[in-house]
Amino acid sequence: MAHPTRRGCSTPPKLHPAVRAANPHFFDQTPESLADLLAGWGMPRFRAKQVLDWVYRKGVAAPQAMTNLSQRDRDTLAHEMTFLNGRVIRQQTATDATQKLLIDWSLAALVTPDAGCSLNSLTVLNEGSSESQTECVLIPSTSRDSGKARRTACVSSQVGCPVGCKFCASGLGGLDANLTAGQIVQQAWQLSRLGIDKGLGPLTNVVFMGMGEPMVNLKAVLPALHTLAADWGMNLSARRITVSTVGVPAGIRRLATIDLPVTLAISLHAPNDDLRKQIIPWAEGVTIDQLVDAGRDYFTQTRREITLEYILLGGLNDQPEHAHELAAVSKRLRSNINLIRYNEVAGLPFARPHADDVHRFQRILTDAGRTTHIRASRGRDIAAACGQLRHESNPSTTTPA
Ligand code: SF4
Repeated sequence: MAHPTRRGCSTPPKLHPAVRAANPHFFDQTPESLADLLAGWGMPRFRAKQVLDWVYRKGVAAPQAMTNLSQRDRDTLAHEMTFLNGRVIRQQTATDATQKLLIDWSLAALVTPDAGCSLNSLTVLNEGSSESQTECVLIPSTSRDSGKARRTACVSSQVGCPVGCKFCASGLGGLDANLTAGQIVQQAWQLSRLGIDKGLGPLTNVVFMGMGEPMVNLKAVLPALHTLAADWGMNLSARRITVSTVGVPAGIRRLATIDLPVTLAISLHAPNDDLRKQIIPWAEGVTIDQLVDAGRDYFTQTRREITLEYILLGGLNDQPEHAHELAAVSKRLRSNINLIRYNEVAGLPFARPHADDVHRFQRILTDAGRTTHIRASRGRDIAAACGQLRHESNPSTTTPA
């Protein structure tokens, strides 16, 4: 069983000794904070650059393998700092080379969900429970525009998800915890290493489309974005990083103020408020008009076109009238449209759309002048849809309503 205060905030959680003594996580650090830590442990500050190079440039996260450090400094690092604080408990490769990792963060310092809680409080989750696991996926593909090979990491920002979209395995059990910035960056780093090991090459893109709603964990997501884009860090172009949200206007406006032109994707999934409320509980509190306003503000501030994500659910939101409505919404802001064919989730009453309906839907949008792509379904044979692997690994813990 998980800790009884996992979802509540009334009683401060009792910390497991391993967490109380938790070391700083390497992937949470900036060059400055790392230099401060190393200096505090008796090392020269310039060691920070050497350690960053080992991890981000050479792909080495084991202090004892950092051969230009003295043995004493290697021992100190190994004792004082955690480099990888989650454990990969399942790894799957799809026939299309998509790779999926299920990571268990038990005994790592997961941050409790926001609602009224101190963001510094810690919670301990039992190993082996879905309440401590997240998924991330490496998707090899070819760029539509340039024809170049791409390796995209799809990362999670939370354990579980508070939004509870009716069609999504991640939302079935609600929110368990927020991930830290370091845990988000670590997923990208591990997937990049995996791509290199498999001969695919390092990451080119990151999308925040795994488990969780990034806009309600900006305290971790914003520093993670900076590390992903930093030349001392993952060194990815900000334009190749996409933050996807089901729609939190205040979060969208906050994201627009950071000095990184990341791509914003709004998960619309329905072209009108009534239908949206049927499949996305949070649509009760946020209208499409409000999302359009926030998206327009984002474009004004960043000059980045918005991507509207639309998951096609067979027979529910994939009919011609829905396409016409979606075209009208899309025309109200600088946007392109990504159509996603639904991947069935065992136990959920939603169907994959028929191919004919998908192509008719796209045709209506393109005829209306909207740039529309159908996102290829990747990794269907390894349950690559959001939250599916975790759900299938722990079916009894996430029984659909
Ligand atoms: Fe959360 Fe995204 Fe799943 Fe909705 S689709 S429940 S926002 S992870």
